This record gives sequence, structure tokens and C-alpha cells, in this order.
Amino acid sequence: MFTLTTKPWVTVLTDVWVKFMSEPEVSQTFGSPPIKSSDLNSKFKYELAETMGSEKILHCLQCGTCTSDCPIARYSNNYRPRTLIHMAILGLKDHILNNDAIWLCATCFTCTDRCPQNIDVANVIRVFRNIAIENGCMHPIFKEQIKTLLETGYTYKIPDIRIKKRSEQGLPPLPTCNIENIQKILKNTKFIKQIQNTPGATTNDNQ
Ligand code: SF4
Ligand code: SF4
Repeated sequence: MFTLTTKPWVTVLTDVWVKFMSEPEVSQTFGSPPIKSSDLNSKFKYELAETMGSEKILHCLQCGTCTSDCPIARYSNNYRPRTLIHMAILGLKDHILNNDAIWLCATCFTCTDRCPQNIDVANVIRVFRNIAIENGCMHPIFKEQIKTLLETGYTYKIPDIRIKKRSEQGLPPLPTCNIENIQKILKNTKFIKQIQNTPGATTNDNQ
């Protein structure tokens, strides 16, 4: 006789997803280690639902619009906003925080504009990054950018050759930054203190 399973459908879907993500080829594609059931943190989605920027995460239908319109997903095999949101809802907190993909978002807000559920996807990714930093995870490229910002006022060090070329072509000098003010803002907003807690932080105590 046919009997219906007593497992709630969410548990069934979670089992299927965890099995799928654990396949070596799949975990390699998403740039994260294989997933175990013990990795699931059921409270994570509720933490996100109470955090400014990711309040509507539980409304996600997994329609895939965010990924299909994302300019970064077009060029990267590792970056899929829909997948990151699904992982968050499943409770794969550590897999998200240690995933280099969260640092790929260009914050262009295309996903936010197009999500049919009005989820602010770009800000959800920002929330992932903030939580990652609070937990001591930060991509080395961002650490370098902060170091350059504190030293020059720009996140990108403009090479001397470009400055020389501008002057040869009669272009005005680039605007200078008030580095002291930038350092003050980053210090007063506790940003510097926060990143000092991440491994390999590049700032020093007197900044
Ligand atoms: S567009 Fe919105 S509802 Fe669709 S998968 Fe992305 S976040 Fe979820
Ligand atoms: S904000 Fe980020 S996730 Fe959204 S479309 Fe732009 S690059 Fe993709």
C-alpha cells in the first residue's frame, strides 16, 4: 500500500539540496568545500530576517531572476546570488562567510531592481560581507584596498606613469584627498578596529 512520507517537505528539499551540493563536481563549481548536514545553522535565516538590508530574505521564491540579470554571474562560474540566498535560507552560514564569491558583487543593484519579491538582493550580499568581517573573514583584495585607501585616499593606487601621462597630455592634476579626514572617518566608525580583527589585517593601531 502506498504511504505518504511523514517528512516535512522543507526537510526533504534540504536533504536533496545538501546531497546535490555535496557532490565533488558541484562543490568545486561553487568554490566551497563539500557540505555536511551538521553544517546547517537553522537560526541563520532568522538572524538575516532581523538585519537591516536582508529583512525580506525569507520571501525568496528561487526564481533566479537575480542571477540571470547579474552582470558578474555572466562572467563568473562561482557567483550566483540566487544560490547564495538559498544557501543562507538553508543555514549554510560558514560556507557563505568563507566563500570568496560574496566579494565578487559589484553592488550595481540590478538584482534589487528586478527581484519580483522586492528583496534587496544587493544589500543581502552586503549583509553577508558585514557578517563575514565580524567573524574575521575578509578577502585579501579588500584588505589591500583599505590599506591603499588609508595611505592615498583612493582604493586604487594610481601609477606614477599615468600621472606623468596626464601631465604630458595637458590634463589637470588629479584631485587630492584629505587622507587625515578619511582616516578619522574610518576610525570613528570603528571600521579600522573591525578589520584589525580579521586575519592578515593591514592597518596599524595608530590609524
Ligand atoms: S530574484 Fe528575488 S525571488 Fe528570485 S531568486 Fe533572486 S532573490 Fe529570490
Ligand atoms: S548588485 Fe551584485 S548580485 Fe546584484 S546584479 Fe549587481 S553584481 Fe549581481
